[in-house]
Amino acid sequence: MINVLFAAKAERWDTYEAPLRAAFAELGLDVDLRTEFAQEQVDYIVYAPNSDVQDFTPYTRCKAVLNLWAGVEAVVGNDTLTQPLARMVDYGLTQGMVEWVTGHVLRHHLGMDLHIKGQDGVWRDYVPPLAEDRRVTILGLGALGMACAKALRGLGFTVTGWSRTPKEADGITCLHGADGLAKALERADILVLLLPNTPATENTVDAAALARMPKGAFIVNPGRGPLIDDDALLAALDRGQIAHATLDVFRVEPLPADHPYWAHPDVTVTPHIASETRPESASRVIAENVRRGEAGEPFLHLVDRSAGY
Ligand code: NDP
Repeated sequence: MINVLFAAKAERWDTYEAPLRAAFAELGLDVDLRTEFAQEQVDYIVYAPNSDVQDFTPYTRCKAVLNLWAGVEAVVGNDTLTQPLARMVDYGLTQGMVEWVTGHVLRHHLGMDLHIKGQDGVWRDYVPPLAEDRRVTILGLGALGMACAKALRGLGFTVTGWSRTPKEADGITCLHGADGLAKALERADILVLLLPNTPATENTVDAAALARMPKGAFIVNPGRGPLIDDDALLAALDRGQIAHATLDVFRVEPLPADHPYWAHPDVTVTPHIASETRPESASRVIAENVRRGEAGEPFLHLVDRSAGY
C-alpha cells in the first residue's frame, strides 16, 4: 500500500479526489489517498503551497512532494523540504495558457478595442498588419512559453523567445543571456511574460527594458507580478511608450481596490485566471510520478532548487 497525503485547501479535495483515485487505479497502483495521515507514514505528498503543511521535517518516509501548481516560488525556498519537489506540467494547464495568451495577443494585434469600445458612430477603418508583420516576444520558453510560441508561430506571427539556457525551435528565434534579452525586447511589438518568479527574474521588465521596446508596444503578463516594475510600467503607459498592458498576475493578489492598475485606461486586469491545473490531466501526471517513484525511475518535472524553478 502506498500512502499519499493530499495537502491542499479543503475545496480542492472535492475536485481532485475522484480524478486522483481514477488515475492511480489506471496505473494499477495500490494507493491509500487521504487528507490526513500520521506524518511518518506518508510516502508522497500531493501539494498546494497554500496548504497547512509548511514543515516537511516529520515526513521522514516521504519520497517526493508533487506540486499541483506550475509556480513553486512559495515552496522552493522552504528549508525543511529535503525531499525531491516536482512541479506541475499538465496538458490542460498548457492548453489553457495557449488559449489565453493567443486570445489576448490577437486582441491587441487586431486592434479589437477600437471597435469594441468605440461604438460611437465613428467609422474607424483600421486594417491590422498580417501576423507575419507583427513581432511577438515571449520571455520564458518553458512548458508554457514554448507552447505559446509554437501556437503563435502557427498563426503566422514572427516569434522570438528568450530563456536562461539556449533553446532551438523551428521557425522561432531563440535567444538567451543579457544580450539576448536586449534583442528580444527591441523586437517586441507584443511582449508575453512566462518566466517563473525567482530572484533572477524580478523586475525583468524595468524602466530600461521598457525603453528598449518599440514605441506603442503591448504587454501581456500571465507569468508573475514581480516580473514587472509596476511604477516603471505605469510611467511607460502614461507616456505612450507602452500602448496597453494586460495583466493577470500581481505582486499582491487580489489586486488591492485602490491600485492604479484598476483605473488606468490602458490596463486590463484579469484575476489570475490565465490558466488552471485541470484535475483529470493533472491527476494523471501525479500518478505517473508516484509510479516512477515506486519503480525507482527518475521523477518527471523536478524543480532545480538552486535555480528556484
Ligand atoms: P518552466 O519552468 O517550464 O519555464 C520557465 C522558463 O523561464 C524557462 O524557459 C526558463 O529557462 C526561463 N527562465 C527562468 N529563469 C530565467 C532567467 N533568469 N532568465 C531567463 N529565462 C529564465 O515554467 P512554465 O512554463 O511551466 O511556467 C512559467 C510560469 O508561468 C510559472 O512559473 C508561473 O509563474 C506562471 N503560471 C501562471 C499561470 C496563470 O494562471 N497566470 C498558470 C501557470 C503558470 P530555461 O528553459 O533555460 O530553463
